Amino acid sequence: MPVARSGYLKKRLLKLQVGFLLTEGPGNSREVPISLPQRIQVDSDLFLESIAGSLVLTRTKEGILIQGDLRLSHARECDRCLEAFDHAFVLSIAELFASPPDANISAFSVDSNGEIDLAPLLREEVLIEESYRSFCRDDCRGLSADTGINLNYEREAAAEAMQLEGGAAIDPRLAVLKQLLK
Ligand SMILES: [Zn+2]
Repeated sequence: MPVARSGYLKKRLLKLQVGFLLTEGPGNSREVPISLPQRIQVDSDLFLESIAGSLVLTRTKEGILIQGDLRLSHARECDRCLEAFDHAFVLSIAELFASPPDANISAFSVDSNGEIDLAPLLREEVLIEESYRSFCRDDCRGLSADTGINLNYEREAAAEAMQLEGGAAIDPRLAVLKQLLK
């Protein structure tokens, strides 16, 4: 997998060559696995951490229909505690790429090189997904209304303190026994 020097994959990888399908004619289809396990640029202001899944491309009379589920991971801010986290979600895609381009049929089209570009479609879908509230974890406790402190950290700190206490509470003589039992 080619990695750009700046640490992410180029959006060029989101283009799929479908010229062969156009040639094969209506009714033909092909399954295309998608596996981009690294950070990839989707647009100037949008990066995804990973994309995985597979798409079925079907030649129809109007162009190429793409269908399938993609698992995406997108770094964003938790709506409760405001910490950055990787939001993972599944995108169900069913979109026609018109060929020849026809705005009345679809906003998307196969370009003159016989390629479809998934980037604009992903961008649109991700923006819709991101318009919903999302949390770093189901039990995120958010920020304290009084102090603004991240309550997740407070609980982790408390749990850690308890562990330390538990460890220190073992009688040194028992600790030797524990050692022997191993
Ligand atoms: Zn959170």
